[in-house]
Amino acid sequence: MKNRMIINIRGVVQGIGFRPYIYALAKKHHLAGFVLNNSEGVYIEVEGNDFNINNFLIAVKNNEHPQADIFDIKSERVVQAGYTRFDIRESQLKDIKSVPVSAELSTCDECLTELLDPADRRYGYPFINCTNCGPRFTIVRDIPYDRKKTTMSKFKMCEKCFEEYENPSDRRFHAQPNACNECGPQLAILSSEGREIKVDDVIIEAVRLLKDGHIIAVKGLGGYHLACDASSQDAVSKLRSRKYREYKPFAIMVRDIATANEICHLNREEEDLLKGVKRPIVLLSKRDNNYIAGDVAPNQRYLGVMLPYTPLHYLLLEKSGLILVMTSANISTEPIVYEDAAVSRLRNIADFYVVHNREIQIRTDDSVSRIWNGKEMLIRRSRGYAPLPLNIKKTFRNHILSCGTDLKNVFCLVKENHAYMSHHIGDLDNVETMISLENGINHFKRMFDIEPAVVAYDLHPNYISSKYARSLKNMRQIGIQHHYAHIVSCMADNEIEEQVIGIAFDGTGYGIDGNIWGGEFFLCDYEHFDRQAHIEYFPLPGGDNAIAEPWRITASLLYKIYGDDMMNLDIDFIKQLDTDKWMVIKHMIEKNINLSLTSSMGRLFDAVSALIGVRRIIYYEAQAAIELEMIADSDESGEYTYDLKECDGRKEILLADLIKEIVVDITSGIGTEKISAKFHNTISKIALDMSIYIRELKGINSVALSGGVFQNIFLLDMIHKRLTENGFNVYTHHRVPTNDGGIALGQAIIASISSKPDG
Ligand code: ZN
Ligand code: ZN
Ligand code: FE
Repeated sequence: MKNRMIINIRGVVQGIGFRPYIYALAKKHHLAGFVLNNSEGVYIEVEGNDFNINNFLIAVKNNEHPQADIFDIKSERVVQAGYTRFDIRESQLKDIKSVPVSAELSTCDECLTELLDPADRRYGYPFINCTNCGPRFTIVRDIPYDRKKTTMSKFKMCEKCFEEYENPSDRRFHAQPNACNECGPQLAILSSEGREIKVDDVIIEAVRLLKDGHIIAVKGLGGYHLACDASSQDAVSKLRSRKYREYKPFAIMVRDIATANEICHLNREEEDLLKGVKRPIVLLSKRDNNYIAGDVAPNQRYLGVMLPYTPLHYLLLEKSGLILVMTSANISTEPIVYEDAAVSRLRNIADFYVVHNREIQIRTDDSVSRIWNGKEMLIRRSRGYAPLPLNIKKTFRNHILSCGTDLKNVFCLVKENHAYMSHHIGDLDNVETMISLENGINHFKRMFDIEPAVVAYDLHPNYISSKYARSLKNMRQIGIQHHYAHIVSCMADNEIEEQVIGIAFDGTGYGIDGNIWGGEFFLCDYEHFDRQAHIEYFPLPGGDNAIAEPWRITASLLYKIYGDDMMNLDIDFIKQLDTDKWMVIKHMIEKNINLSLTSSMGRLFDAVSALIGVRRIIYYEAQAAIELEMIADSDESGEYTYDLKECDGRKEILLADLIKEIVVDITSGIGTEKISAKFHNTISKIALDMSIYIRELKGINSVALSGGVFQNIFLLDMIHKRLTENGFNVYTHHRVPTNDGGIALGQAIIASISSKPDG
């Protein structure tokens, strides 16, 4: 007795070879019928005996397709139709609107084998791809995902490619970027003035130039990289001086896992993350070695490492045998260069360009990730991840837009139970990034058929992202406190809904009292938050100036604690203090000119770093705090003391004892590694004490950790350990960053809830 079943699948199932996968599955289970893409996702009809149909359905539900992300499966039995074979049918393209576009997929093993096989017709072709790999999001102009609506539209497939494209049993069936050397994109090499250099083989020439120590701008998937030989101190310092980037670490690309293993310590999870189809930059702990020039990542314990993810990368690494610095091609704080017309801006940095004629539609930076506690912890969620949606626990009726913040901007659109977090937009301190934000939002709205009724933004009155949000017409506007958004983001990241103790350790975030918060203990759920405790306020003279020059914060903090007696302290910090500059700052403090008050944990780290002489002026964000972490001695178990004060029903954590004891340690000649560790230990003690205090008061046993300071692994490890040992359930970030790159998720969730009854 034959039966027929209709199966509807929603999710990330298009543009990743899902139909051929279903085709093979149906054949295996001896079923007739067909599969096609429609506006919902994938539609399947199968016909055969009950036993086979059931096994087929189980296999579909088990989803062994490596890239498919199935949201839901609906099945229904209907009367048989008399199919005799299984087909892949033409898509019902007419209203494909809401099917998620996949993210970029790194070159698959089969394509790689062909790439390196002299007998294959695509031997050495740097744009080889198939339904299992290749560009996606970065080439999509519009939906539905179809060649005509990608930047591949200008290339007409040759006969052979078209045959593959049309053949349901071919790996390139409906692979939209399908191409070969006859019909597809081509490489070229240009001089620094942008003139094409005629060579027989671009790759061979590029390899020769890299080996000669030149810097080459290489066009990638989501933008240009600057590449040079990572083992050459000369090449790397040349890159640093031309980029005006003195300290911020560069990422490197290595040809394989074995090479990664030679320069860094690797565990199984790290290896899997490196090899995975998303191919982020993975932060790994450095081995002592001579492979890498010291200038690649100065003063760091970690190295950002990635494996090649395009055929072009494979060819460059394979033919050169080099380890390459691969850093985003941009000019200081501007976003990564991705348009061919804009490459002239790189002429003072790059000696040559390796370019091609497939346009990049959307600028998408490399993602940055790491393994912490056996699980992935994203630091920058971009290429390979965006625009894949994140599942969230609640389903929302309203569509929501949230605009993130001005640092590491990422926006988010929420529809039903999916959060579409954007690629990394960057710091909104220039017109280019602002345009990226606006274009990005419009592109996402169109791609995912989202018409937001509500827009959420950060309360900071001067944020460009907030001003943009407030300028949007016909949307309900909801401002959300920065650290509340951080904590809810962590809750949503972990799909929890219960009330939590939220610890937000952060750099800058506007508080509802107008001060800059960042060392916060909240009682918090999706509906509201209550500030239970925080670091005492200390002066931040001159705002951004103080952030760039942490010594200003240190001096202000010492002045708060010691008054003018600070000048008598027998420490290098005071000996090296520029008294003229200090008098100006002191004047600002006393006259309350351009003075913010802050409870920021990030700023406290900066202040301590400058106080003990680790770093007084920074060259990239959070450098002082990062270098303080890097030197901490994990064998040191000592702690400093701190005091508490009751203020409006809140606990204030007082810093005087802590700072005074650090000063005593400095004068007694205790090493900076020990002082740093004791400081970290003290902060973890504060986190534990405050959590216990709130638990006793409110009976809450779950703690969510969020904010940029939790990128500090030394601190995170310790706080996590102490809280867990004391019986707390501890939640940390994994799917979205703990820094401001993850905040849009929290903003969107809070806005969805508070815009009830629609929510
Ligand atoms: Zn492939
Ligand atoms: Zn072709
Ligand atoms: Fe923040």
